[in-house]
Amino acid sequence: MPRTIVWFRQDLRIKDNPALFEAAQRGEVVPVYILDTSTRNKLPLGEASKWWLHKSLKSLRESGVPLIIEQGNLLPILERILKQTESDAIYWNRCYEPHAIARDKKIKKELECTQSFNGSLLFEPWTIQTKSADFYKVFTPFWKACLASPDPRDTLSQPKLKWADNLPTGLAIEDLELLPQNPNWAEGFDNYWKPGEQGAYQKLTDFLENKLHNYDKGRDLPAEDWTSKLSPHLHWGEISPNQVWEAVNRSSNPSDKNTQRFLAELGWREFSYNLLYHFPDLPENPFQKKFSVFPWHDDEKLLRAWENGLTGFPLVDAGMRELWSTGYMHNRVRMIVASLLTKHCLIPWQQGSAWFWDTLVDADLANNSASWQWVAGCGADAAPFFRIFNPVTQSKKFDPQGDYIRRWVPELKHFSDKDVHTPWAVSEDTQKECRCTIGKDYPHPIVDLDVGRVRALQAYEVVKIQ
Ligand SMILES: Cc1cc2nc3c(=O)[nH]c(=O)nc-3n(C[C@H](O)[C@H](O)[C@H](O)COP(=O)(O)OP(=O)(O)OC[C@H]3O[C@@H](n4cnc5c(N)ncnc54)[C@H](O)[C@@H]3O)c2cc1C
Repeated sequence: MPRTIVWFRQDLRIKDNPALFEAAQRGEVVPVYILDTSTRNKLPLGEASKWWLHKSLKSLRESGVPLIIEQGNLLPILERILKQTESDAIYWNRCYEPHAIARDKKIKKELECTQSFNGSLLFEPWTIQTKSADFYKVFTPFWKACLASPDPRDTLSQPKLKWADNLPTGLAIEDLELLPQNPNWAEGFDNYWKPGEQGAYQKLTDFLENKLHNYDKGRDLPAEDWTSKLSPHLHWGEISPNQVWEAVNRSSNPSDKNTQRFLAELGWREFSYNLLYHFPDLPENPFQKKFSVFPWHDDEKLLRAWENGLTGFPLVDAGMRELWSTGYMHNRVRMIVASLLTKHCLIPWQQGSAWFWDTLVDADLANNSASWQWVAGCGADAAPFFRIFNPVTQSKKFDPQGDYIRRWVPELKHFSDKDVHTPWAVSEDTQKECRCTIGKDYPHPIVDLDVGRVRALQAYEVVKIQ
């Protein structure tokens, strides 16, 4: 019976896994995961991603996949496993990061027995084109074109799997040393996440049953829990977008505004991949060339205050602390913290995206790069630079009672609903009553919002004349 290696990468699931499904149709399957330490990649895995990967590999093994785990130089490892297991083919699902495309092309060239599949996008980037055969740079027409093109493929039925026996032992997951050592900053992550296919299904089911009906309004309220939290599961391919797409369309009215809004968010994920594929510089350079002269301003002290959730702006600090404690931050708050950093503080967006890359469990090269560029105003279809979020106005609008702030910034918990957004503005007596002296127990704002805004608009003048 022919044996096929299935090389798992960002598709850590059994169900609706095209490479695994096709390999199972051929005969016996040899499942492999290789921690790639050979490919030149400017952005190696972030620390929070490593935590997730450890747990996800463990979950895949526990679900019965006799995964051979290896670490090192991909090509020789794949060649060795081909020989050792007497396999005659290697199947994988495609990745779209520039380094992954280059890596896979090289392996395809060296080994003739490979075949790749689409396991992680609804619409692959080269299938959606404008009338002039270019790629879309604006979301709305992109998504319209996606919706007008043939439906995403149906999900696959569960394959009958026959694992090859006498597989080489490989490494233990612990040998990959993915978990944080001392201090274990990810201690609390288990309270929020269950990496793996089963965890992904639980999130999807919970979302469909309890959240989708109010997604359109609820998705903007960080104190409440109205979004799916599927992002890390989608990133690691523990669930496919096709499974989500199908389940949402099956269990709700496709013309309902909540359904449409949610599917459009999946669309933003597709759009980000479309951008990254066609503009591989996206993680490093501005999509709009004119921004290459923008006078960004390095400031180590401001950057550290931002990273540590000590900016003096309660909603921003709440977001940054949520990120540190859980590996996640609410989307609305991601926009606000990124805006403060890039606009009021003029710190290069790449420095913010690097912090997110390291600390987010859903760190995703396409989504992270596209979103940072969107907020910084230099991306495709970006928020115009001159539209500068005021973190206080945003705070009052989207966290009116301050519940999200109090959850993550407990030193502010005694301030009234009104004052919690601007604790620096209350009298010293009130601060004392609230058991929080600004400048001692909680920092003064790191930047004057009016000054920062004017400075940002002046900096933008340089871009405008390009
Ligand atoms: C500065 C910044 C950085 C970001 N970095 C990342 C990142 O590294 N990884 C990541 O997955 N998302 C990123 N996002 C997008 C978004 O914040 C998250 O996808 C979302 O908060 C995840 O929560 P959820 O799964 O509950 O989303 P839901 O609201 O339930 O949305 C469902 C899915 O749609 C996709 N999605 C939702 N919003 C977006 C968006 N704006 N752009 C692209 N895809 C989207 C995600 O896959 C998400 O899981 C970033 C946004 C900003 C503003």
